Parts: sequence; C-alpha cells; structure tokens
Amino acid sequence: MKKLDNATKSVWAGEKEYLVHGATQVPVVHSVAFNYDDVDEWYEVAIGNKKGHIYGRNTNPTVQAFEDKVKALEHAEAATSFSTGMAAISNSLLTVLKPGDRIISIKDTYGGTNKIFSEFLPRLQIDVTLVETGNHEEMEKEINKGCKLVYLETPTNPTVKLTDINRITKAAKSVGAMVFVDNTFATPINQNPLKLGVDLVIHSATKFLGGHADALGGVVCGEEGLVKDIYHYREINGATMDPMAAYLLLRGMKTLKLRVEKQQENALKVAEFLSTHPKVEQVFYPGLTTHKHHDIAKKQMNGYGGMLSFALKGELDAVRQFLPKLELAHRAANLGAVETTVGPARTTSHVENTKEERAALGIPEGLVRYSAGIEDIQDLIADLKQALDAITV
Ligand SMILES: *Cc1c(COP(=O)(O)O)cnc(C)c1O
Repeated sequence: MKKLDNATKSVWAGEKEYLVHGATQVPVVHSVAFNYDDVDEWYEVAIGNKKGHIYGRNTNPTVQAFEDKVKALEHAEAATSFSTGMAAISNSLLTVLKPGDRIISIKDTYGGTNKIFSEFLPRLQIDVTLVETGNHEEMEKEINKGCKLVYLETPTNPTVKLTDINRITKAAKSVGAMVFVDNTFATPINQNPLKLGVDLVIHSATKFLGGHADALGGVVCGEEGLVKDIYHYREINGATMDPMAAYLLLRGMKTLKLRVEKQQENALKVAEFLSTHPKVEQVFYPGLTTHKHHDIAKKQMNGYGGMLSFALKGELDAVRQFLPKLELAHRAANLGAVETTVGPARTTSHVENTKEERAALGIPEGLVRYSAGIEDIQDLIADLKQALDAITV
C-alpha cells in the first residue's frame, strides 16, 4: 500500500486479512486465548515460527489490525501497541535504556513524559539532560558530548513549540544515538518522522488517531528489530491494548485525514481571531507567521495541526470567568477529538508540575489550551466571542 495517500490508507490499510465471514468490518475478538487442536502447530505459533495468536496479553487480531493501519500511515516496517500513550512512551524508553546511559530531551515534553524524565529514569541511574525547546544549538552541543537516545516531541503541549527533526536527527546519528519522536500532535497526516531518519515514532492514540475521546491507546512504529524488542518488553510487562479499544481506534482512524484537515482549518481561523482580540494577551499557533517556529513548521509539516493555546490578559481570574461560558467546548483534560476541547494547562498537560515548574517552562498560569473540533467555524468564533465578552477582570 506504499503508493496510496494517507486518506486512502486510513480507510483501507491493515484490514483485509482480519475480515471474516464476508464482513466488511474488522471484528472485535474478545478472546483471551486461542485454540489449537494440533500440538505441533501450537508450538510453532508460540515460538513465533508461524503466524497466529496464543494469548491476549501478547497479540490479538483486532489489536493487530489497529497496529497494521498505523504502520501503513507512518510508512513503517513494524508497529506495536499499548494500553495508553504513556505506556508506549515508558515501555519504549525502558526497552532501550539501562543504568549509565544518557538521554537528551526537551524541557516541555508532555507532563507525564516529563515526570518519567525527572522522577523515574534518574532512579535507574539514567542521566537525563533537558534543553530549552527550540534551542537547537544547545541541543547539538549536548548531543555532541555523547548520548544513547534523543527524545523529541514536536509540536509540544501546550505552547506548540517545534524542533527541527531533520537537523537534530543528523546530530544524533553523528554520535550513534537513536531518536524517538512523540508525533501525537502532528498525526501521521501532517508529519512522518521516520521519513526524516528517526528510529521510532510514538503516538498517544487516545488523541487524534482515535479522535472520538472514547478509547485509550498508544502505539509505536519503526524498524522491525527495534519494534520487536519493544513488543517483547510490553508482552512481559503487560501494558496491552484492549480489543474493544483497538476497534474504536480503528473505526476512528478511518476519518483521520478528514478530521485533521477540518481541525487545522478551524484552528488557524480561531488563532487569527484571537490574535486581534483585546482581551487576549498572546496566541500560540505554528500556523501564524508570528509564531517563533513557523518556519520549521512550514518545512517539516504538511499542515499546522488542530492545537493552539492562548493567554488571557486577566490571567487566572479571566480564565475562571471565560471557560464556563463556552457552550461549544468540553472543559476536559483531553485533545484531538471531534468536539472542541479546552482546558487550562495547569489542570491538563502540566497538572503534574508545580507552579514554579510551569513558570520555568514558560507556561502562564492563565494559559488556555484549545483543541479545535470539526464544528462550523462561524459557530466556534461566535461562541468564543460571547465568552470573551463575559470577562470583566
Ligand atoms: C496525551 C499525550 C500523551 C499520553 O497519552 P495517554 O494516552 O494519555 O497515556 C503523550 N504525549 C502527548 C503529546 C500527549 O498529548
């Protein structure tokens, strides 16, 4: 399926071999274990010499169809899935890192990822260096001192900063380091990091891939050997995706390109509207020419994505008045769904951090994260306008 566009692949890829009884849809296989009348065949499947399924913690047909679709969308050799995005991240890191290794990443990764860097990896005597997001010179300097792994997330959550994947990957390769990229915000529609030379792409499938805020999941894609190692870590540690979640994510993914295109069209118009509004202090969206990483976005992304954030002039008091007034938005710790979803960074992406840590990351306490849905843009803007008008501070 290499030559097909991702719009086509999101509908068709990965499904054919899982269709049974003439069904046009992949079934949810709710079976913990799989039956073998032939003991020798059972053995061959169990040791991996023959295709098939043994036990649900290892593999499941519905889950595998999900993996095959993401694999096609990311132009990858292999993919393996997890119960959540954080399981994908932690299992991948723990597969490749060991005591004494050094990892380099950015300061404003997703809050949970940041906790792994600050709390759990140091406990295993893994040296973590975090640099300012977007300071490529500093990152290159750190990479040149030597490291095992460079971990990127671009665009970031919630201020939508970017890293030049190609540039950092070149630096990492020159010292023999691997590169992992959290591609959750960009989606495979806007960015395929494997094509830029990285070793592993990670997604929280909970967000844009699923798109309907009704299933948790994570997935990683890359070269066969690496993905096999990560799969092995996961099959033993047990952070396996549930077949029902796989089905919901698989169904959601069929409209991935349609949704992402509409979400980013809406996000740009919302960002432009907010940029001119007197009650808004600052807007962060890579599609705005005023965004400090606009040029990087233009170079490495097919579109600017559905995520933006903005700071209100009246800070937290203004946020307290503004958010409850929105009628066309869920106030929730989620993003990437068909419904517009908003939340302050201090209660969503960076709830794990202290006020001081957020300040150090350049996240104002009054920052609102806005995940544009697929609603009509005039309706969204009218809703924002009336909610902004209600601010009295
Ligand atoms: C949500 C998110 C995660 C974690 O995913 P879960 O499915 O919630 O575990 C990781 N990275 C990014 C960028 C996210 O937005």
